[in-house]
Amino acid sequence: MKKYTFDKGGIHPPDHKELTRNLPVETMPLPDELWVSMAQHFGAPATPLVKRKDRVGEGDLIGAVEKGLGANVHSPASGEVVAIASVPHPILGKVPAVVIKVDHSAPPKDYEARPWDGLSPQELLGRIKEAGIVGMGGAGFPTHIKLNPPPQAKVDTLIINGAECESYLTADHRLMVEHPEEVVEGVAIIMKILGVARAYIGVELNKPEAIEALEQAVKKSARQITVAPLEVKYPQGSEKQLIQAITGRRVPGGGLPADVGCVVQNVGTTWAIYQAVVLGKNLYERILTVSGRGVKRPANLLCRVGVRVADIVDYLGGLSEETVKFILGGPMMGFAMADLSAPVTKTTSGVTFLSRKEADLSNYGPCIRCGRCLAVCPMGLSPNEISIYMEKGRFEDTPRFGLLDCFECGCCAFICPSKRPLVQFIRTAKMKLRQKAMATKKG
Ligand code: SF4
Ligand code: SF4
Repeated sequence: MKKYTFDKGGIHPPDHKELTRNLPVETMPLPDELWVSMAQHFGAPATPLVKRKDRVGEGDLIGAVEKGLGANVHSPASGEVVAIASVPHPILGKVPAVVIKVDHSAPPKDYEARPWDGLSPQELLGRIKEAGIVGMGGAGFPTHIKLNPPPQAKVDTLIINGAECESYLTADHRLMVEHPEEVVEGVAIIMKILGVARAYIGVELNKPEAIEALEQAVKKSARQITVAPLEVKYPQGSEKQLIQAITGRRVPGGGLPADVGCVVQNVGTTWAIYQAVVLGKNLYERILTVSGRGVKRPANLLCRVGVRVADIVDYLGGLSEETVKFILGGPMMGFAMADLSAPVTKTTSGVTFLSRKEADLSNYGPCIRCGRCLAVCPMGLSPNEISIYMEKGRFEDTPRFGLLDCFECGCCAFICPSKRPLVQFIRTAKMKLRQKAMATKKG
């Protein structure tokens, strides 16, 4: 069997997926309140379209972005708007949110499949935009924009990212095992939008049941779709590495996948596209993994957007006394948080609770110039230099070590024998450069 992989750097962290990989997705019951963030996508937060005391139905539009990049936000349940408040956000601090008191007596909304073959690519894109779909595996880039590359890009290949190489997370794995035909229909919809004849679904070899389920589903499709087994290596699921692994093409520094004729979509986003186009369902729930030895009952949950992490913890029986760290996402690329009132958003692929044994809380030391971080960096960057310059307060010097090509995979920090928080240095350097650019613009 051919194994696809990228050639530069990478690591093999313990995956801890045994905690949840065999657990079927269960539906998280609706809590009494949903805190629906208006910042669930790349770009400025959406503007709430509702006010206190308004009644909302499941799937109703409650937030929109008028200008610039963004995506619609829909009510995840029927109920009454009780406040426009703020909720914790991993990057922006606090962001506006619509608080909905759930009406538990309202019947769930029914959806029926309908044919989509007669729709044009523009009509399909319009439906995706209306449904508020964003990239569900990362920063939440609006999908209707990503699927509309400039004509000069000459896109010929679609790649679906089912790698799920982040430790602990098994949400995409369960989705591919439990809904393979819907995923494949989603792939066919995207192929029609892009006008491409070829698509690959990349899945790491540690998910044999997902590979098998997708292969069976692909056999029933008239499209040219290949399930591409990927070597188990982190970060196999990052866009540039996945493109190189499957097609051999290299996205240039500062470039985009479309520059080498590719578009990459996460498998969860592909399922959301299926639901939007075939069922007419807006995006207001997702599958996520709750894991780590810090949570009493790890699980894969189908969870409405706006459910707070504290509600999930209650549902899963609480946290163990040994819990020392809570991360939105997985330990490699996720964001450590302090506040359990943070809500699930469209981009929450998981919530990880680490016990004392799993989290390394030791202090970091000076760089000993061992070079290990350089060897594992899949982008060939110099994270050691970035950290040294940041310690000296010289953030303006960091771009020459590749700062802006860093996609914060965490390989360097994982391997560093001095436990240096290299990704934190990198994120701070990027933030300071952004602040400086904004101040210059204003001045
Ligand atoms: S976090 Fe950035 S610098 Fe570190 S290994 Fe990943 S891409 Fe390289
Ligand atoms: S791995 Fe750590 S100690 Fe080694 S060169 Fe990189 S930053 Fe320095």
